Amino acid sequence: MNDTSTQRMPALFIGHGSPMNTLEDNGFTDAWKRMGQVIGKPRGVLVVSAHWFIGSTAVTAMAKPRTIHDFYGFPQSLFDFQYPAPGLPELAAEVVDVAKPDWVGLDRDQWGLDHGTWSVLAHIFPDADVPVVQLSINALKPMDYHVELGAKLNALRDRGILVLSSGNVVHNLRRIDWHAGDTGEAWAQRFDDAAADLMIHRPGDIASLADHPDFAAAVPAPDHFVPLLYTAGIAAAAPNGAEALVRGYSLGSLSMTCYGVSCETIGRREGYDAATLPADVPPDQTNI
Ligand code: ZN
Repeated sequence: MNDTSTQRMPALFIGHGSPMNTLEDNGFTDAWKRMGQVIGKPRGVLVVSAHWFIGSTAVTAMAKPRTIHDFYGFPQSLFDFQYPAPGLPELAAEVVDVAKPDWVGLDRDQWGLDHGTWSVLAHIFPDADVPVVQLSINALKPMDYHVELGAKLNALRDRGILVLSSGNVVHNLRRIDWHAGDTGEAWAQRFDDAAADLMIHRPGDIASLADHPDFAAAVPAPDHFVPLLYTAGIAAAAPNGAEALVRGYSLGSLSMTCYGVSCETIGRREGYDAATLPADVPPDQTNI
């Protein structure tokens, strides 16, 4: 594999869906795998995951972040999964630096790598040989804060860092339709289309989605939506904006759409056959 550590790295937003995508091969995970093949080997990955949603802005500062199994009701094989990527404490220090004057704390022992991170990286970097650092989502901050912090992180891409956001543009577990397969409800498609239009043409205005008539249905809680704001901030700071790499839905009320900045060679794909959820647990109690 070529040494790409000094090349400009892409930024990605991945719609991660069910954590069972970790263990399955389908149209979405094939696309993620191909992204990894095209990207090569970055110096490190900085991940903004929906599942580290706390009351402060913190960055992983551990040499060996642990694999966290932060969900309920899935098969034991998923709880046995480990993603032993090393950390990169010097990247944590760089994040602290580029975020100034905003404050970012160093997390030395609280979190680790959650399933928003490893369910995706299991396909992008299956050998777990690229160092990984997570950036928490500060639940106390307004949307503009996340867009602006994303724009600041854009500088890291020139230092060999892949900036990966992991969430879902549309994520409503209470409205899961077990018979919907890989389709989205009309309201989910309207919102996902509006998000795509903004990401491609006016990413700096992404926060205006809060005024969309379907926002309450698509984003009943902010955690899975906010990672998109980081990629939007990067797209707004980059010369060519974002493009939709994968479009697709799962179970009516999840969008699996993925975006890329500076990764045109990956090419657009239609996703299909996303992993599903445990049948015996209410979806809104799975913490996916
Ligand atoms: Zn999730």
